[in-house]
Amino acid sequence: MSLTMKILIGMLAGVVVGAAINTLDNAFVSDVVVGGFFAMIGTMFVNALKMLVVPLVFFSLVCGVAGIGDIRVLGRVGTKSFGLYIFTTAVAIATAILLALVIGPGQGFEMQGIDASGITAKEAPSVWEVFANIVPTNPIQAFASGEMLQIIFYTIILGVAVVMLGDQSASFVRACEYMNEVMMKIVSIVMAFAPYGVFCLIAKTFAEQGIDLFVPVLAYVGTLVGALFLHLFVTLMILLKLTTGLNPLTFMKKMRSAQIFAFSTASSNATIPVTLQCITERIGVKNSVASFTIPFGATINMDGTAIMQGVATVFLANVYGIELGISGYLMVIAMAVLASIGTAGVPGVGLVMLTMVLNQVGLPIEGIALILGVDRLMDMIRTAVNITGDAVVSTIVAKLEGEFDPAVFGDPNAGIESE
Ligand code: ASP
Repeated sequence: MSLTMKILIGMLAGVVVGAAINTLDNAFVSDVVVGGFFAMIGTMFVNALKMLVVPLVFFSLVCGVAGIGDIRVLGRVGTKSFGLYIFTTAVAIATAILLALVIGPGQGFEMQGIDASGITAKEAPSVWEVFANIVPTNPIQAFASGEMLQIIFYTIILGVAVVMLGDQSASFVRACEYMNEVMMKIVSIVMAFAPYGVFCLIAKTFAEQGIDLFVPVLAYVGTLVGALFLHLFVTLMILLKLTTGLNPLTFMKKMRSAQIFAFSTASSNATIPVTLQCITERIGVKNSVASFTIPFGATINMDGTAIMQGVATVFLANVYGIELGISGYLMVIAMAVLASIGTAGVPGVGLVMLTMVLNQVGLPIEGIALILGVDRLMDMIRTAVNITGDAVVSTIVAKLEGEFDPAVFGDPNAGIESE
């Protein structure tokens, strides 16, 4: 049985066991099994993934820059991926707002029993601040705290210097290539534990969340999931087909393990090692492009999160009976796109971004309390959409730059043994 299949089974078993524990309502099971054991294994697993992110991004990006070897090409890859990331995020949120306006979730909603204490708005950083902060004052600190944009910036500069030194750098580049291989091996080792890690993460979520939480905000959940699926299966796949001619079904199949990881961990950042593995070993994007576009996308590209902002604003505007108008919604689009650039792909960050968006258009922040309960599950789905968006853009850029290997894409078993 393939590892992806085992992870899938772990995930489904997690849903069943978690939902059963939730209905059981037994203090011992909730405290010891869920809060203790499941939480411990789940945290260990997510920690193991996170442990790989910084060194993997560093070594693969040095190899990527050295592999491209030409600063102009590097600039092209950067500009194209940045443009496509912004474009797909803007399309995502615009579709979400339109769909939500048509469906109209939240109309006639009865506000009651909502605890809104402890929710405060976060001020949005200015565009200038976001860009200024890309340059780290202390690279060690940037690496230690996992500041992805700063790490990317520093590593690219380092890679460029390495390229400029030419022959002198040969052994350093070889060492980085070797370390990159080593890191990818560790990814495979961690992946071997994935079925158990995924089981514990999902079981814990479902045991704590339960199903009845969804009833009062069913219209919100339905619209959001609809918009997420529309973007995932229609918009992104049409874009992929039109620009690269690749078969969307094959693409989706090859992305499955990364999507399951994103779903289980609710973190694009923690999923970087798996996304990199899927995209290079199974889809055929060369490391020269993937090593840059994937960590970059995990930080700045959040299609799924932007969709949540769109649906949530329409939902809350309906609940509070506030008319936002065209200019209000344009503001929401601009804010959500900007906020996604400046925030990292970690669990729950979508809610923080939502406080900025609501603040900007003058909707009451307390409204977030309404959707707080269901947000973990929505976070899981939107993170899977986020990383698929990263992979689509990465594939398009690789195709445009001639850094794509069709033989890998055409081979159904490519990368399967390392999975
Ligand atoms: N968890 C998401 C991610 O890592 C961000 C969010 O929507 O909260 O991509």
